[in-house]
Amino acid sequence: MEWGVAVPFPRCGDIRMSSETPRKATDEEIQSAAEAILDAGYPIALTGAGMSVESGIPPFRGPGGLWTKYGEPPMNQFQRFMANPKKAWEERLSTRNDEFYKPLTEAKPNPGHFALAELESIGVLRFVITQNVDDLHRQAGQKSLAEIHGNWKLIRCLDCNLRFRREQVDFSVLPPRCPECGGILKSDTVSFGEPIPSDVLHLCATHAAKADLVIVAGTSATVYPAAGFALEVKQRGGVMIEVNLYESEITRVCDFSLGGGSADVLPRLVKAVSSLRRSRAS
Ligand SMILES: [Zn+2]
Repeated sequence: MEWGVAVPFPRCGDIRMSSETPRKATDEEIQSAAEAILDAGYPIALTGAGMSVESGIPPFRGPGGLWTKYGEPPMNQFQRFMANPKKAWEERLSTRNDEFYKPLTEAKPNPGHFALAELESIGVLRFVITQNVDDLHRQAGQKSLAEIHGNWKLIRCLDCNLRFRREQVDFSVLPPRCPECGGILKSDTVSFGEPIPSDVLHLCATHAAKADLVIVAGTSATVYPAAGFALEVKQRGGVMIEVNLYESEITRVCDFSLGGGSADVLPRLVKAVSSLRRSRAS
């Protein structure tokens, strides 16, 4: 696969069916992982669709998936946008499917999102790379964040990468133009066939290069390029901690594989980090 070209949404392997046996991390496993996090100099996290699902957002594929219901976007979605941005915007604005967007509108951050935000606020977690477009990490208060597949609430200038909220954009002439540079605006969500925005890639690369530990939550880390940043940390000799209800493709290469949903495991993990930190300080 070409580096930097998006596979914007989880493959089937990312969302497991319930026929597999769910796992549950023991307190000892949580404690060992917490010690590794405190021992690390620059922990980061990679999050994926599993965290969205725990907030009630259906996956895109599989039974009950949004694309299963409403149709999958074409693989050349971005090329079609570029060929006629005016038409693409007209279609987007006239066929905005309320039911498709309803789960995104209604979703709230879950305890897993808040746990990562807390781990950042106590000065331990340095950066989060998410494959999710749902805005929930921001809503939970995460500050140091790269949304590698974009944010469904934002609109991005294809020339200067500035992001805008919907109400900041003038739609009276289509395609809408960037108020700063006049470039064509597109939804920030990365389309099929669209390169990941260069500013986001650069940010991820910078933090991944410094990281010596990565927490991989709610994703089997097989969707590139996001997965590459996590695997890079491991390949350099860093520590990899997986949080996943089911065994995944990366379970056997992880230093710690914590069974359970993010909404369950991440709060337990952050609680263990906090108390360990207090006991080390005293
Ligand atoms: Zn611009």
